[in-house]
Amino acid sequence: MKRKPFIAGNWKMYKNASEAVTLVQTIKAAAHTVSDVTIVICPPFTALGVVSKILTDTAIQLGAQNMYSAPEGAFTGEISPTMLKDVGCRYVILGHSERRQYFKEDDILIHEKVKTALKYSLVPIVCLGETLAEREAKKHFDIVKTQFDECLARLEKDDMAKVVIAYEPVWAIGTGKTATPDQAEQMHSYIRRLLNERYSQEVGNRIPILYGGSVKPDNTKSLMEKPNIDGALVGGASLKAESFAQIIIEAQQTHEAGINS
Ligand code: PEP
Repeated sequence: MKRKPFIAGNWKMYKNASEAVTLVQTIKAAAHTVSDVTIVICPPFTALGVVSKILTDTAIQLGAQNMYSAPEGAFTGEISPTMLKDVGCRYVILGHSERRQYFKEDDILIHEKVKTALKYSLVPIVCLGETLAEREAKKHFDIVKTQFDECLARLEKDDMAKVVIAYEPVWAIGTGKTATPDQAEQMHSYIRRLLNERYSQEVGNRIPILYGGSVKPDNTKSLMEKPNIDGALVGGASLKAESFAQIIIEAQQTHEAGINS
């Protein structure tokens, strides 16, 4: 039996508070029949409060797109894990390639953030993935292994068991180019092997590994059919309620078909 499907929407720097209210209300209505998928919505910081209120009586979880690695302090412009908890977040995306590329975040900082998130009971969704040049140079497995080791190494097994991993090849994010299901599965099974070797089979079996990079309703099924692809981190397609809801429904149906076959 496969792990419970997990679909997270990353709204990036889109939607002000009133647009966020409309979007989340529509997603809530469209996804109300779905019971067997973990659904997480990650709006921008300024919309977390209003979205949180709308999600209080639902199974849809709230996540943030980033946080700082300290619980509080003189860090102008940053947001702390305790602030995220206070507003109702359970998840936080860390190490997204846009943070690495535009804000120069490196594996050392991401590792600090992962440790802090876990300390304050937030579940980190840790993003790993290679650039196009790295894939063309056939370095993609080495790159992901280094990111894995540097972002996650030295975590206690109990902490590691709480983490969610997202494999997001940088060349597939927001480009309309998706990794083929076989390319994605190869990397997901490689990451699963790292989890088994570095931690334990139990940890490896348990952790959801999401795929991210131009996921849409029409490619969700072929990705989710793969044994090590447990879900998706969805950017662009999570900004439209209809497409995000359809991705969630596809994930549920693919999972049910797998369970029943
Ligand atoms: C993302 O932002 O994590 C992402 C995968 O974006 P998109 O789905 O638009 O490629």
